[in-house]
Amino acid sequence: MSIFDPTSFIRQHREVPAVCCVCGHTVSLRDRDEATDGALLDSTFLDDYRLELLLLDRASALFARFPDSRHALKVGHEQLQPKLFPRTSCDPDFEAALAADPPLSKFLRRSMFHLPSLRKGVMESIEQLSKRDFSTIRCPVCADGVLRLQIGWLLPAL
Ligand SMILES: [Zn+2]
Repeated sequence: MSIFDPTSFIRQHREVPAVCCVCGHTVSLRDRDEATDGALLDSTFLDDYRLELLLLDRASALFARFPDSRHALKVGHEQLQPKLFPRTSCDPDFEAALAADPPLSKFLRRSMFHLPSLRKGVMESIEQLSKRDFSTIRCPVCADGVLRLQIGWLLPAL
């Protein structure tokens, strides 16, 4: 069994696809040094965490709209020990609201996690990574944004 190592993975590629988190400008980066690759990895993780937080916030908002729902997807993500709570798979109103947000539906069905714990962890990771200096990988076009690896290049997209 091998553990995926992002640092050696990016170092193996002479050319990597990058995109600006703000304006969407795409660029192919080549002949990078280790420091640049380190910054690129961190900016990618940071942006992925931000995208994940958007989904987690939408999940929280959806669950808050149905405080009395015992839908298995809701109970499964709200309780540390969901099996101790009554659950149902029949809740047409909740199902309809979930169906209105296909990316959220896919995200919730694909993985089990305790929403409050994951949300806290993601927010802490964002806070940590935000302190990093990304000045070497500023977007050459808008100058406001930071480059990240193209979504899905390093890890499967959410
Ligand atoms: Zn930009």
